[in-house]
Amino acid sequence: MTLKSKITLPIYGGCQCQQIRYEISAMPLTMYVCHCTECQTQSTSGFGMSMPIPKSGFRLIQGNPKIWSRKSHSGREVKYAFCSECGIRVYHMPSRNKSIINVKPGTLDNKTMFEPVGNLWLKSAQSWVYISPGAINFQQQPESFKSLYIAWKNRYEQNSLI
Ligand SMILES: [Zn+2]
Ligand SMILES: [Zn+2]
Repeated sequence: MTLKSKITLPIYGGCQCQQIRYEISAMPLTMYVCHCTECQTQSTSGFGMSMPIPKSGFRLIQGNPKIWSRKSHSGREVKYAFCSECGIRVYHMPSRNKSIINVKPGTLDNKTMFEPVGNLWLKSAQSWVYISPGAINFQQQPESFKSLYIAWKNRYEQNSLI
């Protein structure tokens, strides 16, 4: 049995100019990398990352993000929250699952806290990106995120506050 990493809540983060700040008071459900071309544009980089959080465990503690929306690969609407000052994408709100908020993990104060457990859309991944063969990897959008949730639960647990 491998020891799980213990995570102490709450977790804090924010945009680059710090006008938007948030607090996470629930354990994240998973974290994954997405190599789709939309995430490459969105991140202005090689890939995007997402960390779904139960909506009830996410709270803005400062700032008022601007919302933009578009249709995802599946044709469903996704709303994107970003800072109108510095332009940083802070979180996404997918209509496929209204009970979660997809926080962009690059906005976490502690950027080495978590490692993603899987990769989506490998068919459009940049050739120079290292893909761990031990990760949960999908060529496109997965039918279900269940395996990503399970791998995460096997790796992290919440620190019990005594
Ligand atoms: Zn900002
Ligand atoms: Zn993507």
